[in-house]
Amino acid sequence: MHIDCGPVASHGSRPDFLEQFQPFARSARLLRTPFASGNHSMSLAVTADILRTLHRLHQQLADLKDRLAAGPRQLLARGKLLELSEAARTAIQDNIKKEKVSADQKQLQLKSDEAKILNLDSKLNACKTNREYQTLREQIAAFRMATKVLEDEILEALERIDAVKKTLPAAESEVASIKKQLADTRSQIAGETATLEAEVARISGDLICAEGELPADSLESYRRVAKSKGADSLASVEGESCGGCFQQITGNMVAELKMGKIIACRSCGRLLYLAK
Ligand SMILES: [Zn+2]
Repeated sequence: MHIDCGPVASHGSRPDFLEQFQPFARSARLLRTPFASGNHSMSLAVTADILRTLHRLHQQLADLKDRLAAGPRQLLARGKLLELSEAARTAIQDNIKKEKVSADQKQLQLKSDEAKILNLDSKLNACKTNREYQTLREQIAAFRMATKVLEDEILEALERIDAVKKTLPAAESEVASIKKQLADTRSQIAGETATLEAEVARISGDLICAEGELPADSLESYRRVAKSKGADSLASVEGESCGGCFQQITGNMVAELKMGKIIACRSCGRLLYLAK
């Protein structure tokens, strides 16, 4: 990646904070020359401003990365909703199928029983004894009873199918609506992601520029803290407390900060800078 940390005049598109930062940055470069050594008041202003800028850039990066991570989480949640709505629709469809199979089986049974009744009816006239006749009549009556029960059961099954079928359109439109929301969210996130990634690249470049202004002897300890803590790697000193963990810092530490030294909070490890 090409990082342009050149003079202010050539950065028409740079954000305001870098405009403000550059004069201090130039001073920081001067401070590392023999001519400017020992100028503590300038050193303080420069160090605090560099750290403040670094802190802001880290916070901006953390915020951008949070927003980037939110997209996939949103898609995952909508995907789950879609799965649930599809499962609800499938359950309705399965229920309809199951009831239809059961009703079809009962229909077949009914036809078979009706055929048996017809068959038995046809034998009635051929009966030779009264007892034979009575037995046939009893068998026919039993089959008629069974067919009556089957007819009722088939009717109930058809009514259940109708009732369940009525819930299907709502379930289907729910699936279609969530699918559309998912597609909309996906394209919206794709657009936002491109913008956010461009911002991440820009702020990362600014961060590299700002880091380049740190005194060389503190760069390594800064990088170590920044790598492990990110946006929590720095904190302003509010009164005599660390603005990150709110623990009090010693008067000696405040004095060191005023001398432009870069020191870490003993409690949370954040690099401290004096508030404006
Ligand atoms: Zn702290």
